[in-house]
Amino acid sequence: MEKSFPVTDKVMDMINRYTIDPLKPEDVFCFSLTLCDNDIDRDNERFSNAALQELAKLFLGKTGIFDHDPTSSGQTARIFSTAVVTDDTRLTLDGQPYTALTAKAYMVRTSSNADLIKEINGGIKKEVSVSCAVAKHTCSVCGTDRAQHSCSHIKGKRYGEKLCYVTLEDPTDAYEWSFVAVPAQQGAGVTKRHETRQDTSKQLTKLRSELGEATKKLSAAADHVRGEILKLSYFCTPFYTTDQVCAMTEEMDIYRLLELRKKLESYVQSHAADIEQSEKSFITQPADDDTDENENYTI
Ligand SMILES: [Zn+2]
Repeated sequence: MEKSFPVTDKVMDMINRYTIDPLKPEDVFCFSLTLCDNDIDRDNERFSNAALQELAKLFLGKTGIFDHDPTSSGQTARIFSTAVVTDDTRLTLDGQPYTALTAKAYMVRTSSNADLIKEINGGIKKEVSVSCAVAKHTCSVCGTDRAQHSCSHIKGKRYGEKLCYVTLEDPTDAYEWSFVAVPAQQGAGVTKRHETRQDTSKQLTKLRSELGEATKKLSAAADHVRGEILKLSYFCTPFYTTDQVCAMTEEMDIYRLLELRKKLESYVQSHAADIEQSEKSFITQPADDDTDENENYTI
């Protein structure tokens, strides 16, 4: 998959955009590679063509590591050019023209990476793994964005004629790429790792506004329950004034308020006959013959 290519002046110009001291052609080793493609991989995921275009921009300048060991000196390469290439003679598993994100990378030649360069030239190190953040995971069967909501479809299963796979869209960041032993993408010898990450500050603003809305609703609900408690308290003994009831319920959270309302409702229900009688008799003071029920009103 990787091929070295002539290091022209144009190539050197592109490379030297990423260096502090300009490098000479003899200082660098260049090779091309395929980062990822639009075919369905063994995880039953694929990148959309638009995602590949976006990743082409995001992977520019990104460092790649060999054998997942970023600490070994001379074992890193940097991408200095990317392109999205369509091969019309080849189809993906779902019958679309095969499209891949390709890249050109360079390494600074050192004594410690001479063997690695030989391996790349010999085509031994040929599997690439990419790591990126993707905002949207679309189900091929129902179109649900599984980054937001789940759906019942299982990747790799067929639903009638439709194979369930996930299309990765809206990449938001590209982190790194590396050479690994096992390929995930069937066509390209490419693996990928991705995560869903939305813009943190946007997400925070959204959460704050949702929290504000929820707090408002909760506060309105609590006020409503306080009003009901006040009404119910008129029928209870001992009798408390409006101010006393308000003072009692002011600091209560919604759970205590609901509990109190329940107690008062059951008190009123069990004393329905007495209450009716009192109203008929125009007795304004509540009857005082039910002291055994007073605990129902204990707060
Ligand atoms: Zn689905």
